[in-house]
Amino acid sequence: LFAEANGSAAPKKILVLGGDGFCGWPTSLYLSDQGHDVVVVDNLSRRNIDLELGCDSLTPIQPMEVRCQAWKEVTGKDIRFVNLDVAKEYDLLVQLIEKEKPDSIVHFAEQRAAPYSMKTSKTKRYTVDNNVGGSNNLCCAVIDSGVDAHIVHLGTMGVYGYGTSGGEIPEGYIDVILPGGRESNILHPAYPGSVYHATKCLDALLWQFYNKNDQLRVTDLHQGIVWGTNTPQTALDERLINRFDYDGDYGTVLNRFLMQGAMGVPLTVYGTGGQTRAFIHISDTARCIELAINNPPKPGDRVEIFNQVAETRRVRDIANLVAKLTGVEVNYIPNPRQEADENELDVSNKKFCNLGLDPITLDTGLFDEVTEVVKKYKSRCNPQKILPASFWNKKRAEACADLD
Ligand code: NAD
Repeated sequence: LFAEANGSAAPKKILVLGGDGFCGWPTSLYLSDQGHDVVVVDNLSRRNIDLELGCDSLTPIQPMEVRCQAWKEVTGKDIRFVNLDVAKEYDLLVQLIEKEKPDSIVHFAEQRAAPYSMKTSKTKRYTVDNNVGGSNNLCCAVIDSGVDAHIVHLGTMGVYGYGTSGGEIPEGYIDVILPGGRESNILHPAYPGSVYHATKCLDALLWQFYNKNDQLRVTDLHQGIVWGTNTPQTALDERLINRFDYDGDYGTVLNRFLMQGAMGVPLTVYGTGGQTRAFIHISDTARCIELAINNPPKPGDRVEIFNQVAETRRVRDIANLVAKLTGVEVNYIPNPRQEADENELDVSNKKFCNLGLDPITLDTGLFDEVTEVVKKYKSRCNPQKILPASFWNKKRAEACADLD
């Protein structure tokens, strides 16, 4: 049953850090389904942040123990779960890597919401400590364990800044002429738009350093905004359902619009909606990660960087598309973010396409899947949680003061 993705097709032992999350859970199931031996590592912090914010996944996600048991019942395959904090339980992380000797470690285990990272000094500091501390711990733990595991990290398109290059954004590296005339190929300049995005830029420097210093094999995936909810694997049984975030902090833009459309409430577009963003469907997130796992950098290679995106779209165009399909209004509200009103974004994704990815694009047929999920669980929605709840600075907070 092992599907041969381009590259090494042998089943692998894989640790999935952050495997209880929105991207991590469907990826863990997909990798297990493809015949890999998967161990999920997660400290369940995302579930705790839901409690802190007084929200919950729209979909009724089950505890990890139930999820793993259901997967076993439905497919006969094992996924093991280890509750461990990657940023705080260093010794346990080293012991786990020594014991499991993974071929690959997929690293999703970070605080991933830009709005949450901008909420307060406490959430800014937590995001930096958790994300940068976790990535540094992972590098040190791989080195200390002596296991030559390939690290596959989920980064973000946001490390490039949006539309600052003035042309197609290449995959991680750019050609430059240094002062004095020497030609070089260096990491694309970092231009973060939030504390969260800044942590991904800092991660990229850590990968570069440990790769140079200790020859760690690292692939950094600069991912676009993920949309969709379920995958063929999570749809097998209701207990396997993926999380769906719709709140102002964690709800990502297209899923939020689809959710508002299905609920019959106006779509909330920030500012002019002129922001152009990169998108990828959740099923392709999982496929890309397997492609990255099966095509590790060779020993001595520099950090491999892929742009993990299917396409770019302007936010107001997406809003108009969803509005047309659902008949709801588009409501332009003050932007809680400090960002350019309008930007262009042109991104290369040749590397994944060359490895055989045929990405799913914004197909309105696939919108139905999300709409069905939202309709099914709409009684679980708290509409009060949809509007922005975090503001980039005092000026933005004042501009948004009248939102209700
Ligand atoms: P998520 O919050 O749903 O999942 C992250 C998981 O990591 C959670 O289950 C959380 O409990 C766990 N975690 C966090 N800190 C941890 C720690 N210190 N130790 C152990 N576990 C920890 O987020 P997601 O949407 O699945 O995103 C996963 C990764 O993909 C993130 O790194 C994110 O930056 C990246 N990414 C996501 C998107 C998107 O649209 N969702 C887009 C680009 C990049």
